[in-house]
Amino acid sequence: METTASWAGRLARLAPVRVAHVERAAFDTHALSAGRPLEGAAYQQGTLRGFEVREYLLAKFGRTCVYCGATDTPLNIDHVHPRSRGGSDRVANLVLACIPCNQAKADRPVEEFVTDPKTLAMIRAQAKAPLRDAAAVNATRWALWRSLDERLPTRVGSGGRTKWNRTRNRLPKSHTLDALAVGKLDTITEAARTVLSVACTGRGSYARTTPDKHGFPRLRRSRSKQYFGFATGDLVRALVPVGKRKGSHSGRVLVRARGNFDITTAHGRQAGINHRYVRLLQRVDGYAYTLRKEMGVSSPA
Ligand SMILES: [Zn+2]
Repeated sequence: METTASWAGRLARLAPVRVAHVERAAFDTHALSAGRPLEGAAYQQGTLRGFEVREYLLAKFGRTCVYCGATDTPLNIDHVHPRSRGGSDRVANLVLACIPCNQAKADRPVEEFVTDPKTLAMIRAQAKAPLRDAAAVNATRWALWRSLDERLPTRVGSGGRTKWNRTRNRLPKSHTLDALAVGKLDTITEAARTVLSVACTGRGSYARTTPDKHGFPRLRRSRSKQYFGFATGDLVRALVPVGKRKGSHSGRVLVRARGNFDITTAHGRQAGINHRYVRLLQRVDGYAYTLRKEMGVSSPA
């Protein structure tokens, strides 16, 4: 949470960021109770409320078919009391069913499809039971929103709205494009094609001894964290003119007192590279940076 908030602060200093949008919860509970009934097949796709309802049901039923317990399978929204017999679209009448169960039940009443009275009572109770707040709201996301809002104006959206925006704008599913689709918006006209990915790597340990199992010092580590001007974690490029490691290697370095460094590159680790061939690109700052292509974003026509 602190990393995200700190990066929002950094970006706001570098670029004219006026407002942040945060996905605070999986779905918006107000959108579930208020408003019109779901029309036709609209609850499966299309409307904002449809997306909110789907996210709500996924959380409530733990992505599981209520009839057979199947998980990891596409789930349909099923009316406990069928619509064709006057069943309502209120969430208390909706459950999640796998496609085989959903098709087998068709528009029969639930008591015709589920014959075991115990199971039947359980499904009805589960459908009626409201989802507890703890399951609906992620505490970390709330804390993140509060922390961001101290730095810059921060609006909130739901996961249901993110998916609705993504679907309406025909964006493929990815973390970056989902970030673009958070909050209230009409149209996404442009998406990034290259993404800078920032990961926390830490700054190493400050302890200069390694303890044994009783907590007594066992090994003494070097006072120095730097050798030949490099620290473990620095971003470097090595140009090796000769030998087994001949070539150019860029990545994060692991330093050793004797001057034989390891470099972790995108293609794996290169061990035992002499410090004389190594040039500094960027000092270690606790983060690892990688650039990658955003998949599925087409070039403008
Ligand atoms: Zn099923």
